[in-house]
Amino acid sequence: MTDAGGAIALRTEALSKSFGGVHAVDDATTEFFEGKINGLIGPNGSGKTTFFNCVTGMIQPDSGRVYYRDREITRWQPHKVARTGLGRTFQLCRVFPRLTVLDNLLVAVHPAHPLAYLGRPRELALVERARGILGRVGLEHLETAEARDISYGQQKLLELAAALMADPEMVMLDEPAGGVNPALIERIAALVAELNAEGTTFLVVEHNMEFIMNLCHHVVVFDRGRPIAAGTADQVQQDPKVLEAYLGV
Ligand code: ADP
Ligand code: MG
Repeated sequence: MTDAGGAIALRTEALSKSFGGVHAVDDATTEFFEGKINGLIGPNGSGKTTFFNCVTGMIQPDSGRVYYRDREITRWQPHKVARTGLGRTFQLCRVFPRLTVLDNLLVAVHPAHPLAYLGRPRELALVERARGILGRVGLEHLETAEARDISYGQQKLLELAAALMADPEMVMLDEPAGGVNPALIERIAALVAELNAEGTTFLVVEHNMEFIMNLCHHVVVFDRGRPIAAGTADQVQQDPKVLEAYLGV
């Protein structure tokens, strides 16, 4: 895989978030590159999800700054962050279980007011767009199924599809392959690579090292809330600090 470089899409400066005495994210200064598939890895509890939450406005950092492209977005509300072109999915899948697959995409258009959509006549253009995206992720045959009745891996694909409804320029995925069967993991990986080839920037948290190795152009490694290494997947895998963080050697 090629190295990173070029324009920075997302960066943080000295970002910190504690829960009680736990420094979940601790003075994290990072950068992630435009047009690339960026990876964020690190042992369990190293602060990856908290970092995502601080960046996307789900929780407020205690201190530090977040920049997306040229704008400072620190402490912005999640829907406002989404409107800048930065989308995300969650480590624990978040779909509306009792809505159909198609309706999950339609409500995603108004993330701040999901209920506003229900009961309204459907906009044909939106439905067509949602169907196009379902085709893209391979869920078109499940359009009328309730989200709770499809497999966990399919729900993860649905969540990615919902994120795509906002036509994001950058997508942050928190463990897209976690708990997903190997065939679907391959489909998710292929989709990420395809969308990236069409211009979407990614930041992916994933424990599946094969997924990271095969996909990511640039990888940042967290340990105890801080970045301890950055580079290609090959480079960071050989970094003694990374081996120590993972293996305690
Ligand atoms: P990762 O995603 O890398 O596994 P997390 O960001 O989930 O790590 O967690 C980092 C640390 O912060 C862990 O010690 C975790 O227990 C703690 N933590 C995360 N969220 C909360 C919370 N809402 N309340 C208290 N502690 C939390
Ligand atoms: Mg996590």
